[in-house]
Amino acid sequence: MRDTIAAIASGITASGIGIVRISGPGAFRVLEKIFRFANPTKKVSTQKANTIHYGYIYDGDEKIDEVLVMLMKAPHTYTAEDTVEIDCHGGPYVMQQILSTALRAGARMAEPGEFTKRAFLNGRIDLSEAEAVMDVIGAGSEDALKSSLMQLGGSLKREITELREEIITEVAFIESALDDPEHYDLTGHTAEMTQNINKILGRLKKLSSSFNEGRLVREGIYTVILGKPNAGKSSLLNYVSGMERAIVTDIAGTTRDTLEETVRIGGIVLRIADTAGIRNTGDVIEKIGVERALMSADRADLILAVFDTSLPLSEEDEKIFEKIKGRRAIVLLNKSDLAPAFDVEEIRTRCDSPVISISAKEETGIDELARVIRDMFFGGQLHINEQIMITNVRHKECVEDAIRSLQLVMDAIIEGMPEDFFTVDLMDAYAALGRILGEQVEDDLVETIFAKFCMGK
Ligand code: GDP
Repeated sequence: MRDTIAAIASGITASGIGIVRISGPGAFRVLEKIFRFANPTKKVSTQKANTIHYGYIYDGDEKIDEVLVMLMKAPHTYTAEDTVEIDCHGGPYVMQQILSTALRAGARMAEPGEFTKRAFLNGRIDLSEAEAVMDVIGAGSEDALKSSLMQLGGSLKREITELREEIITEVAFIESALDDPEHYDLTGHTAEMTQNINKILGRLKKLSSSFNEGRLVREGIYTVILGKPNAGKSSLLNYVSGMERAIVTDIAGTTRDTLEETVRIGGIVLRIADTAGIRNTGDVIEKIGVERALMSADRADLILAVFDTSLPLSEEDEKIFEKIKGRRAIVLLNKSDLAPAFDVEEIRTRCDSPVISISAKEETGIDELARVIRDMFFGGQLHINEQIMITNVRHKECVEDAIRSLQLVMDAIIEGMPEDFFTVDLMDAYAALGRILGEQVEDDLVETIFAKFCMGK
Protein backbone atom coordinates (compact mmCIF):
# COMPACT_ATOMS: atom_id res chain seq x y z
CA MET A 1 0.00 0.00 0.00
CA ARG A 2 1.37 3.41 -0.92
CA ASP A 3 1.67 6.19 1.63
CA THR A 4 -0.02 9.56 1.44
CA ILE A 5 1.85 12.43 -0.14
CA ALA A 6 1.33 16.16 -0.15
CA ALA A 7 2.79 19.14 -1.98
CA ILE A 8 2.05 22.62 -3.16
CA ALA A 9 0.64 21.90 -6.61
CA SER A 10 0.49 25.48 -7.85
CA GLY A 11 3.50 27.74 -8.27
CA ILE A 12 5.02 28.98 -5.07
CA THR A 13 5.24 32.58 -6.13
CA ALA A 14 2.59 34.90 -4.71
CA SER A 15 -0.70 34.66 -6.59
CA GLY A 16 -4.41 34.90 -5.88
CA ILE A 17 -5.05 31.22 -5.37
CA GLY A 18 -2.77 28.39 -4.40
CA ILE A 19 -3.39 24.67 -4.34
CA VAL A 20 -2.09 22.18 -1.85
CA ARG A 21 -2.69 18.64 -3.01
CA ILE A 22 -2.82 15.51 -0.89
CA SER A 23 -2.95 12.08 -2.50
CA GLY A 24 -3.00 8.54 -1.18
CA PRO A 25 -5.08 6.17 0.93
CA GLY A 26 -4.86 8.47 3.96
CA ALA A 27 -5.74 11.71 2.14
CA PHE A 28 -9.14 12.11 3.80
CA ARG A 29 -7.78 11.20 7.25
CA VAL A 30 -5.12 13.88 6.91
CA LEU A 31 -7.73 16.44 5.89
CA GLU A 32 -10.01 15.43 8.76
CA LYS A 33 -7.27 16.49 11.16
CA ILE A 34 -6.58 19.90 9.69
CA PHE A 35 -9.86 21.09 8.17
CA ARG A 36 -12.93 22.47 9.92
CA PHE A 37 -16.15 22.97 8.00
CA ALA A 38 -17.84 26.32 8.27
CA ASN A 39 -20.76 24.23 9.49
CA PRO A 40 -19.22 22.41 12.50
CA THR A 41 -21.61 19.46 12.37
CA LYS A 42 -20.14 18.23 9.05
CA LYS A 43 -17.37 15.64 8.84
CA VAL A 44 -14.94 14.85 6.01
CA SER A 45 -15.53 11.10 6.20
CA THR A 46 -19.25 11.38 5.53
CA GLN A 47 -18.98 13.59 2.44
CA LYS A 48 -19.65 12.35 -1.06
CA ALA A 49 -16.90 12.03 -3.68
CA ASN A 50 -16.29 14.95 -6.02
CA THR A 51 -17.69 17.60 -3.74
CA ILE A 52 -16.35 21.00 -2.75
CA HIS A 53 -16.56 22.37 0.77
CA TYR A 54 -15.97 25.69 2.39
CA GLY A 55 -14.11 25.98 5.68
CA TYR A 56 -10.82 26.64 7.42
CA ILE A 57 -7.45 25.00 7.81
CA TYR A 58 -6.36 24.79 11.42
CA ASP A 59 -3.00 24.00 12.93
CA GLY A 60 -4.17 22.81 16.32
CA ASP A 61 -6.28 25.71 17.52
CA GLU A 62 -4.71 28.25 15.25
CA LYS A 63 -6.68 29.17 12.15
CA ILE A 64 -4.34 29.34 9.17
CA ASP A 65 -6.53 30.09 6.17
CA GLU A 66 -10.00 30.22 4.75
CA VAL A 67 -10.22 27.61 2.00
CA LEU A 68 -12.25 25.47 -0.35
CA VAL A 69 -11.48 21.77 -0.30
CA MET A 70 -12.17 19.36 -3.11
CA LEU A 71 -12.71 15.73 -2.21
CA MET A 72 -12.02 13.24 -4.98
CA LYS A 73 -12.17 9.49 -4.58
CA ALA A 74 -10.06 6.79 -6.23
CA PRO A 75 -9.86 5.82 -9.00
CA HIS A 76 -11.32 8.88 -10.72
CA THR A 77 -8.54 11.29 -9.83
CA TYR A 78 -5.28 12.48 -11.37
CA THR A 79 -3.23 9.93 -9.44
CA ALA A 80 -6.02 7.32 -9.37
CA GLU A 81 -5.83 7.54 -5.56
CA ASP A 82 -8.00 9.35 -3.02
CA THR A 83 -7.10 12.97 -3.50
CA VAL A 84 -7.81 16.19 -1.69
CA GLU A 85 -7.10 19.60 -3.15
CA ILE A 86 -7.06 22.55 -0.85
CA ASP A 87 -7.77 25.81 -2.65
CA CYS A 88 -6.16 28.35 -0.41
CA HIS A 89 -4.83 31.86 -0.69
CA GLY A 90 -1.80 31.96 -2.91
CA GLY A 91 0.80 33.52 -0.66
CA PRO A 92 3.99 31.44 -0.38
CA TYR A 93 3.91 31.64 3.42
CA VAL A 94 0.34 30.51 3.86
CA MET A 95 0.78 27.66 1.37
CA GLN A 96 3.88 26.45 3.21
CA GLN A 97 1.96 26.64 6.49
CA ILE A 98 -0.87 24.51 5.15
CA LEU A 99 1.59 22.04 3.68
CA SER A 100 3.53 21.63 6.91
CA THR A 101 0.28 21.18 8.84
CA ALA A 102 -0.68 18.41 6.42
CA LEU A 103 2.75 16.82 6.85
CA ARG A 104 2.38 16.87 10.62
CA ALA A 105 -1.04 15.28 10.22
CA GLY A 106 0.47 12.22 8.57
CA ALA A 107 1.27 13.01 4.95
CA ARG A 108 4.75 12.76 3.47
CA MET A 109 6.28 15.49 1.32
CA ALA A 110 5.90 14.44 -2.34
CA GLU A 111 9.03 13.94 -4.40
CA PRO A 112 9.35 16.02 -7.58
CA GLY A 113 6.94 14.57 -10.14
CA GLU A 114 5.50 12.06 -7.71
CA PHE A 115 1.83 12.78 -8.43
CA THR A 116 2.42 12.14 -12.12
CA LYS A 117 4.55 9.12 -11.30
CA ARG A 118 1.69 7.68 -9.29
CA ALA A 119 -0.70 8.29 -12.16
CA PHE A 120 1.69 6.22 -14.28
CA LEU A 121 2.33 3.50 -11.69
CA ASN A 122 -1.39 3.19 -11.04
CA GLY A 123 -1.90 2.65 -14.75
CA ARG A 124 -3.94 5.77 -15.39
CA ILE A 125 -1.57 7.22 -17.97
CA ASP A 126 1.23 5.72 -20.01
CA LEU A 127 4.79 6.92 -19.92
CA SER A 128 4.59 9.07 -23.04
CA GLU A 129 1.63 10.87 -21.49
CA ALA A 130 3.44 11.29 -18.17
CA GLU A 131 6.41 12.78 -20.01
CA ALA A 132 4.02 15.07 -21.86
CA VAL A 133 2.69 16.36 -18.53
CA MET A 134 6.21 17.32 -17.57
CA ASP A 135 6.78 18.87 -20.99
CA VAL A 136 3.58 20.91 -20.70
CA ILE A 137 4.80 22.33 -17.42
CA GLY A 138 8.28 22.99 -18.75
CA ALA A 139 7.16 24.22 -22.19
CA GLY A 140 9.13 27.29 -23.22
CA SER A 141 7.01 28.33 -26.18
CA GLU A 142 3.52 28.17 -27.51
CA ASP A 143 4.52 25.61 -30.11
CA ALA A 144 6.30 23.41 -27.61
CA LEU A 145 3.18 23.58 -25.49
CA LYS A 146 0.92 22.61 -28.39
CA SER A 147 3.09 19.65 -29.22
CA SER A 148 3.15 18.46 -25.60
CA LEU A 149 -0.58 18.89 -25.28
CA MET A 150 -1.06 16.83 -28.38
CA GLN A 151 1.12 14.12 -26.93
CA LEU A 152 -0.84 14.39 -23.72
CA GLY A 153 -3.96 13.84 -25.77
CA GLY A 154 -2.39 10.49 -26.59
CA SER A 155 -1.60 10.96 -30.28
CA LEU A 156 1.87 9.47 -29.98
CA LYS A 157 0.46 6.64 -27.92
CA ARG A 158 -2.14 5.90 -30.61
CA GLU A 159 0.45 5.84 -33.38
CA ILE A 160 2.82 3.63 -31.40
CA THR A 161 0.01 1.30 -30.36
CA GLU A 162 -1.12 0.97 -33.97
CA LEU A 163 2.38 0.23 -35.20
CA ARG A 164 2.85 -2.36 -32.49
CA GLU A 165 -0.42 -4.03 -33.48
CA GLU A 166 0.79 -4.30 -37.04
CA ILE A 167 4.07 -5.81 -35.93
CA ILE A 168 2.42 -8.31 -33.63
CA THR A 169 0.02 -9.31 -36.41
CA GLU A 170 3.03 -10.35 -38.49
CA VAL A 171 4.46 -12.32 -35.58
CA ALA A 172 1.10 -13.94 -34.91
CA PHE A 173 0.78 -15.02 -38.53
CA ILE A 174 4.22 -16.62 -38.59
CA GLU A 175 3.70 -18.34 -35.26
CA SER A 176 0.30 -19.64 -36.32
CA ALA A 177 1.72 -20.97 -39.57
CA LEU A 178 4.50 -22.77 -37.74
CA ASP A 179 2.03 -24.27 -35.27
CA ASP A 180 -0.72 -25.03 -37.69
CA PRO A 181 0.66 -25.34 -41.21
CA GLU A 182 -2.60 -26.84 -42.46
CA HIS A 183 -4.53 -23.65 -41.95
CA TYR A 184 -1.89 -20.98 -42.34
CA ASP A 185 0.42 -20.99 -45.31
CA LEU A 186 3.63 -19.07 -45.31
CA THR A 187 4.33 -19.78 -48.96
CA GLY A 188 4.48 -16.52 -50.80
CA HIS A 189 3.93 -14.60 -47.59
CA THR A 190 7.29 -12.85 -47.68
CA ALA A 191 6.16 -10.52 -50.46
CA GLU A 192 3.23 -9.35 -48.40
CA MET A 193 5.35 -9.14 -45.29
CA THR A 194 7.99 -7.05 -47.08
CA GLN A 195 5.28 -4.64 -48.08
CA ASN A 196 3.83 -4.44 -44.56
CA ILE A 197 7.18 -3.94 -42.90
CA ASN A 198 8.16 -1.31 -45.42
CA LYS A 199 5.03 0.62 -44.54
CA ILE A 200 5.77 0.35 -40.83
CA LEU A 201 9.36 1.42 -41.45
CA GLY A 202 8.12 4.45 -43.38
CA ARG A 203 5.96 5.56 -40.49
CA LEU A 204 8.74 4.98 -37.97
CA LYS A 205 11.21 6.95 -40.05
CA LYS A 206 8.77 9.83 -40.26
CA LEU A 207 8.48 9.79 -36.48
CA SER A 208 12.21 9.68 -36.08
CA SER A 209 12.80 12.61 -38.44
CA SER A 210 10.14 14.64 -36.67
CA PHE A 211 12.52 14.68 -33.74
CA ASN A 212 14.79 17.32 -35.19
CA GLU A 213 11.88 19.62 -35.80
CA GLY A 214 10.65 18.70 -32.34
CA ARG A 215 14.00 19.58 -30.85
CA LEU A 216 13.88 23.00 -32.46
CA VAL A 217 10.41 23.51 -31.03
CA ARG A 218 11.32 22.38 -27.57
CA GLU A 219 14.83 23.58 -27.05
CA GLY A 220 14.81 26.49 -29.41
CA ILE A 221 16.84 27.21 -32.53
CA TYR A 222 20.51 27.61 -31.67
CA THR A 223 21.32 30.94 -33.27
CA VAL A 224 24.58 32.76 -33.71
CA ILE A 225 24.75 36.43 -34.52
CA LEU A 226 27.70 37.32 -36.72
CA GLY A 227 28.75 40.81 -37.62
CA LYS A 228 31.72 43.09 -37.44
CA PRO A 229 32.12 45.28 -34.37
CA ASN A 230 29.48 47.99 -34.12
CA ALA A 231 27.24 46.41 -36.74
CA GLY A 232 24.56 46.28 -34.06
CA LYS A 233 24.66 42.71 -32.75
CA SER A 234 24.15 43.65 -29.12
CA SER A 235 21.43 46.12 -30.04
CA LEU A 236 19.66 43.42 -32.02
CA LEU A 237 19.93 41.02 -29.11
CA ASN A 238 18.56 43.62 -26.76
CA TYR A 239 15.77 44.44 -29.14
CA VAL A 240 14.63 40.84 -29.50
CA SER A 241 15.07 39.97 -25.88
CA GLY A 242 13.32 43.11 -24.72
CA MET A 243 15.84 43.72 -22.00
CA GLU A 244 19.26 45.15 -21.53
CA ARG A 245 21.13 41.88 -21.49
CA ALA A 246 24.28 42.49 -23.44
CA ILE A 247 26.45 45.54 -23.00
CA VAL A 248 25.97 48.03 -25.82
CA THR A 249 28.76 50.47 -26.47
CA ASP A 250 30.21 52.66 -29.15
CA ILE A 251 33.68 51.22 -28.64
CA ALA A 252 34.39 48.54 -31.20
CA GLY A 253 34.83 45.07 -29.79
CA THR A 254 33.24 45.32 -26.36
CA THR A 255 31.09 42.24 -26.62
CA ARG A 256 33.81 39.77 -25.77
CA ASP A 257 32.06 36.91 -24.16
CA THR A 258 29.65 34.39 -25.54
CA LEU A 259 26.43 35.13 -23.79
CA GLU A 260 23.49 32.89 -24.38
CA GLU A 261 20.02 34.21 -24.24
CA THR A 262 16.68 32.59 -24.90
CA VAL A 263 14.30 34.84 -26.78
CA ARG A 264 10.95 34.29 -28.35
CA ILE A 265 10.06 35.69 -31.75
CA GLY A 266 6.55 35.05 -33.04
CA GLY A 267 6.15 31.93 -30.92
CA ILE A 268 9.52 30.47 -31.93
CA VAL A 269 12.25 30.12 -29.36
CA LEU A 270 15.76 31.18 -30.37
CA ARG A 271 18.75 30.40 -28.23
CA ILE A 272 20.99 33.24 -29.20
CA ALA A 273 24.69 33.26 -28.58
CA ASP A 274 25.94 36.80 -28.83
CA THR A 275 29.53 36.52 -29.84
CA ALA A 276 32.28 39.00 -30.43
CA GLY A 277 32.52 40.59 -33.83
CA ILE A 278 34.64 39.24 -36.64
CA ARG A 279 37.71 41.32 -37.36
CA ASN A 280 41.39 41.11 -37.90
CA THR A 281 42.97 41.93 -34.60
CA GLY A 282 46.09 41.40 -32.61
CA ASP A 283 44.19 41.72 -29.36
CA VAL A 284 44.27 38.29 -27.68
CA ILE A 285 40.98 38.50 -25.85
CA GLU A 286 39.25 39.81 -28.94
CA LYS A 287 40.72 36.99 -30.99
CA ILE A 288 39.36 34.36 -28.65
CA GLY A 289 35.97 36.00 -29.06
CA VAL A 290 36.27 35.97 -32.84
CA GLU A 291 37.31 32.33 -32.95
CA ARG A 292 34.52 31.45 -30.63
CA ALA A 293 32.05 33.25 -32.85
CA LEU A 294 33.22 31.35 -35.89
CA MET A 295 33.19 28.06 -34.00
CA SER A 296 29.72 28.68 -32.66
CA ALA A 297 28.61 29.51 -36.17
CA ASP A 298 29.60 26.02 -37.25
CA ARG A 299 27.30 24.48 -34.66
CA ALA A 300 24.46 26.92 -35.21
CA ASP A 301 21.05 25.94 -36.54
CA LEU A 302 20.73 29.51 -37.77
CA ILE A 303 23.14 32.37 -38.44
CA LEU A 304 21.93 35.93 -38.24
CA ALA A 305 24.47 37.97 -40.21
CA VAL A 306 24.30 41.62 -39.24
CA PHE A 307 25.66 44.32 -41.53
CA ASP A 308 25.90 48.02 -40.91
CA THR A 309 24.29 49.66 -43.95
CA SER A 310 25.57 53.08 -42.97
CA LEU A 311 29.18 52.05 -43.69
CA PRO A 312 30.73 50.66 -46.88
CA LEU A 313 31.16 46.89 -46.86
CA SER A 314 34.50 45.92 -45.42
CA GLU A 315 36.75 42.90 -45.68
CA GLU A 316 35.20 41.57 -42.48
CA ASP A 317 31.76 41.79 -44.04
CA GLU A 318 33.01 39.79 -47.01
CA LYS A 319 34.28 37.12 -44.62
CA ILE A 320 30.84 36.82 -43.16
CA PHE A 321 29.29 36.47 -46.62
CA GLU A 322 31.74 33.61 -47.18
CA LYS A 323 30.88 32.02 -43.87
CA ILE A 324 27.15 31.89 -44.48
CA LYS A 325 27.34 30.38 -47.95
CA GLY A 326 25.24 27.24 -48.05
CA ARG A 327 24.14 27.69 -44.44
CA ARG A 328 20.79 28.47 -42.91
CA ALA A 329 21.37 32.16 -42.52
CA ILE A 330 19.49 35.42 -42.65
CA VAL A 331 21.17 38.63 -43.75
CA LEU A 332 20.12 41.56 -41.61
CA LEU A 333 20.88 44.95 -43.07
CA ASN A 334 20.91 46.97 -39.89
CA LYS A 335 20.72 50.71 -39.32
CA SER A 336 18.16 51.04 -42.10
CA ASP A 337 17.16 54.31 -40.41
CA LEU A 338 20.42 55.83 -41.69
CA ALA A 339 21.39 56.57 -45.26
CA PRO A 340 22.82 53.45 -46.94
CA ALA A 341 26.51 53.46 -47.88
CA PHE A 342 26.25 50.57 -50.32
CA ASP A 343 23.78 49.17 -52.80
CA VAL A 344 21.27 47.17 -50.79
CA GLU A 345 19.69 45.69 -53.93
CA GLU A 346 23.04 44.30 -55.03
CA ILE A 347 23.26 42.34 -51.77
CA ARG A 348 19.84 40.85 -52.44
CA THR A 349 20.88 39.59 -55.84
CA ARG A 350 24.24 38.14 -54.90
CA CYS A 351 23.13 36.47 -51.68
CA ASP A 352 21.36 33.10 -51.50
CA SER A 353 20.07 33.83 -47.99
CA PRO A 354 16.99 35.92 -47.27
CA VAL A 355 17.83 39.60 -46.82
CA ILE A 356 15.91 41.82 -44.43
CA SER A 357 16.34 45.50 -43.65
CA ILE A 358 16.07 46.21 -39.96
CA SER A 359 16.80 48.90 -37.49
CA ALA A 360 17.72 47.62 -34.08
CA LYS A 361 17.60 51.18 -32.84
CA GLU A 362 14.21 52.13 -34.25
CA GLU A 363 12.97 48.60 -33.60
CA THR A 364 11.71 47.81 -37.07
CA GLY A 365 11.93 44.62 -39.09
CA ILE A 366 11.40 42.03 -36.39
CA ASP A 367 8.03 40.82 -37.71
CA GLU A 368 9.63 40.14 -41.06
CA LEU A 369 12.46 38.31 -39.32
CA ALA A 370 9.98 36.12 -37.42
CA ARG A 371 8.15 35.29 -40.65
CA VAL A 372 11.36 34.34 -42.44
CA ILE A 373 12.50 32.11 -39.57
CA ARG A 374 9.15 30.37 -39.59
CA ASP A 375 9.38 29.82 -43.35
CA MET A 376 12.90 28.56 -43.09
CA PHE A 377 12.45 26.06 -40.29
CA PHE A 378 8.86 25.05 -40.34
CA GLY A 379 7.74 25.63 -43.91
CA GLY A 380 5.70 28.70 -43.01
CA GLN A 381 4.06 27.20 -39.99
CA LEU A 382 4.45 24.38 -37.60
CA HIS A 383 2.40 21.41 -38.65
CA ILE A 384 2.22 20.02 -35.20
CA ASN A 385 -1.51 19.94 -35.29
CA GLU A 386 -1.41 17.36 -38.05
CA GLN A 387 1.91 15.70 -37.49
CA ILE A 388 2.74 13.43 -34.63
CA MET A 389 6.01 14.65 -33.35
CA ILE A 390 8.69 13.16 -31.19
CA THR A 391 10.14 15.72 -28.85
CA ASN A 392 11.91 13.45 -26.47
CA VAL A 393 15.31 11.86 -27.00
CA ARG A 394 14.29 8.69 -25.18
CA HIS A 395 11.39 8.19 -27.55
CA LYS A 396 13.65 8.77 -30.53
CA GLU A 397 16.07 6.09 -29.35
CA CYS A 398 13.23 3.61 -28.93
CA VAL A 399 11.94 4.38 -32.43
CA GLU A 400 15.44 3.94 -33.85
CA ASP A 401 15.87 0.62 -32.06
CA ALA A 402 12.62 -0.50 -33.64
CA ILE A 403 13.81 0.67 -37.06
CA ARG A 404 17.06 -1.29 -36.67
CA SER A 405 15.23 -4.46 -35.70
CA LEU A 406 12.83 -4.19 -38.62
CA GLN A 407 15.76 -3.52 -40.94
CA LEU A 408 17.22 -6.84 -39.77
CA VAL A 409 13.96 -8.53 -40.72
CA MET A 410 14.17 -6.98 -44.17
CA ASP A 411 17.76 -8.16 -44.55
CA ALA A 412 16.76 -11.66 -43.50
CA ILE A 413 13.95 -11.68 -46.05
CA ILE A 414 16.36 -10.63 -48.80
CA GLU A 415 18.81 -13.34 -47.75
CA GLY A 416 16.02 -15.89 -47.96
CA MET A 417 16.12 -16.91 -44.31
CA PRO A 418 13.30 -19.11 -43.04
CA GLU A 419 10.32 -17.24 -41.57
CA ASP A 420 10.80 -18.31 -37.99
CA PHE A 421 14.00 -16.27 -37.98
CA PHE A 422 11.97 -13.12 -38.26
CA THR A 423 9.94 -13.30 -35.11
CA VAL A 424 12.82 -12.51 -32.76
CA ASP A 425 13.59 -9.22 -34.51
CA LEU A 426 9.93 -8.41 -34.93
CA MET A 427 9.47 -8.92 -31.20
CA ASP A 428 12.50 -6.71 -30.52
CA ALA A 429 10.88 -3.93 -32.53
CA TYR A 430 7.62 -4.52 -30.67
CA ALA A 431 9.42 -4.29 -27.31
CA ALA A 432 11.36 -1.18 -28.31
CA LEU A 433 8.14 0.64 -29.13
CA GLY A 434 6.60 -0.64 -25.91
CA ARG A 435 9.30 1.17 -23.99
CA ILE A 436 7.88 4.48 -25.23
CA LEU A 437 4.64 3.66 -23.48
CA GLY A 438 6.51 2.49 -20.38
CA GLU A 439 6.27 -1.23 -20.86
CA GLN A 440 9.31 -3.08 -19.58
CA VAL A 441 10.94 0.11 -18.48
CA GLU A 442 13.45 -0.50 -15.76
CA ASP A 443 12.64 1.16 -12.45
CA ASP A 444 15.67 3.43 -12.49
CA LEU A 445 14.65 4.82 -15.86
CA VAL A 446 11.24 5.63 -14.40
CA GLU A 447 12.97 7.36 -11.49
CA THR A 448 15.13 9.43 -13.83
CA ILE A 449 12.20 10.48 -15.96
CA PHE A 450 10.10 11.61 -13.02
CA ALA A 451 12.95 13.29 -11.21
CA LYS A 452 13.41 15.60 -14.22
CA PHE A 453 10.15 17.19 -13.31
CA CYS A 454 10.64 19.77 -10.63
CA MET A 455 7.58 20.98 -8.85
CA GLY A 456 7.67 24.50 -7.56
CA LYS A 457 9.06 25.64 -10.87
P1 GDP B 1 27.92 45.34 -31.82
O1 GDP B 1 29.34 45.73 -31.59
O2 GDP B 1 27.74 44.69 -33.16
O3 GDP B 1 27.31 44.55 -30.74
O4 GDP B 1 27.10 46.74 -31.95
P2 GDP B 1 26.22 47.49 -30.86
O5 GDP B 1 24.90 46.83 -30.74
O6 GDP B 1 27.03 47.70 -29.65
O7 GDP B 1 25.94 48.85 -31.63
C1 GDP B 1 26.98 49.75 -31.96
C2 GDP B 1 26.43 51.15 -32.13
O8 GDP B 1 25.50 51.20 -33.21
C3 GDP B 1 25.66 51.63 -30.91
O9 GDP B 1 25.96 52.99 -30.72
C4 GDP B 1 24.22 51.46 -31.29
O10 GDP B 1 23.38 52.37 -30.64
C5 GDP B 1 24.26 51.73 -32.78
N1 GDP B 1 23.16 51.06 -33.49
C6 GDP B 1 22.81 49.76 -33.43
N2 GDP B 1 21.76 49.52 -34.21
C7 GDP B 1 21.43 50.67 -34.82
C8 GDP B 1 20.41 51.07 -35.78
O11 GDP B 1 19.57 50.28 -36.22
N3 GDP B 1 20.40 52.36 -36.16
C9 GDP B 1 21.30 53.27 -35.69
N4 GDP B 1 21.22 54.51 -36.13
N5 GDP B 1 22.27 52.94 -34.81
C10 GDP B 1 22.32 51.66 -34.36
